[in-house]
Amino acid sequence: MRPTGKLHLGNFMGALANWVKLQDKYECYFFIADWHALTTGYDDTSLIRQNTLDVLLDYLAAGLDPERSVLFLQSRVLQHAELSLLLGMITPVGWLERVPTYKDQQQNLADKDLSNYGFLGYPVLMSADILLYQPQFVPVGNDQTAHVELTREVARRFNQFYKLGGREVLPEPDVLLTPSPKLPGTDGRKMSKSYGNTIQLTDPEPDVRKKLKTMVTDPARIRRTDKGDPDKCPVGDLHKVFSTPETLAKVYDGCRSAGIGCIECKGWAADALVQILQPIQERRARYSEAQALEILEDGSNRARRRAEQTMVEVRAAMRMPMTGKSGQ
Ligand code: SF4
Repeated sequence: MRPTGKLHLGNFMGALANWVKLQDKYECYFFIADWHALTTGYDDTSLIRQNTLDVLLDYLAAGLDPERSVLFLQSRVLQHAELSLLLGMITPVGWLERVPTYKDQQQNLADKDLSNYGFLGYPVLMSADILLYQPQFVPVGNDQTAHVELTREVARRFNQFYKLGGREVLPEPDVLLTPSPKLPGTDGRKMSKSYGNTIQLTDPEPDVRKKLKTMVTDPARIRRTDKGDPDKCPVGDLHKVFSTPETLAKVYDGCRSAGIGCIECKGWAADALVQILQPIQERRARYSEAQALEILEDGSNRARRRAEQTMVEVRAAMRMPMTGKSGQ
């Protein structure tokens, strides 16, 4: 994830909650992509440090376990830059211009000048981020599969040009599709930091309840006596993700018969959210800033050792003249 601020429930349900489960089954690497933050936010780096710390604490709070997984900072593993540069040599510009998010982002962030080389090239850096660990899988939601597909194409092209003793050095990773339920923000649009409609993992209970109170509902339900439909209501969508089957049944029944008011219904949704957030916030409180940074440093050291193993093979396959030790 890019360090652009504290994480919210959309990030949690779309990625983090899945990652936590993957730890039981796989050897996992999770990182904070601070160089990627520069691809669009190159003009103001004043918050990167604080944002990195916040994302790290949110990772730990969500349940990523530094004993089992490697949690690291991209810019502390210089091999990402080296592999990105080398892959950039073999990646046609046309491939990058065709990445769906390239044009989308330029339109969505129209007030930003995104004609910079780093933004065009970010999928190459992303390919390096992935291939450096020679992984079997990349866990992504549906909207990210194009990036993994490009990574596979880059790996294929690399392997066509360069081999090590007849062997391919960069295996093509597979997508591990992770469920990402539709999570609306308080204004009914997709929960997203850029819309300012989020419920953050760190929001205290009174804030959660206040945000829920202002949340939009089924537009057909104007008066208390009007019947509504949870399937047309963002609060209903929250219930579907977070509430128990019993509460959900009460919501459908009460909303469709006008037996409950929206205030009451939103209160139940807030109860469910608070229950999810409570253990996350308790875990977050266990880590001091110094402890978190130590975890990041330790993880970055582990990631660097793994990344360097790949780079030794990459350089050898490319017949790059290397003397002495590289990396840090
Ligand atoms: S009762 Fe609940 S689901 Fe129905 S419109 Fe109101 S907030 Fe939405």
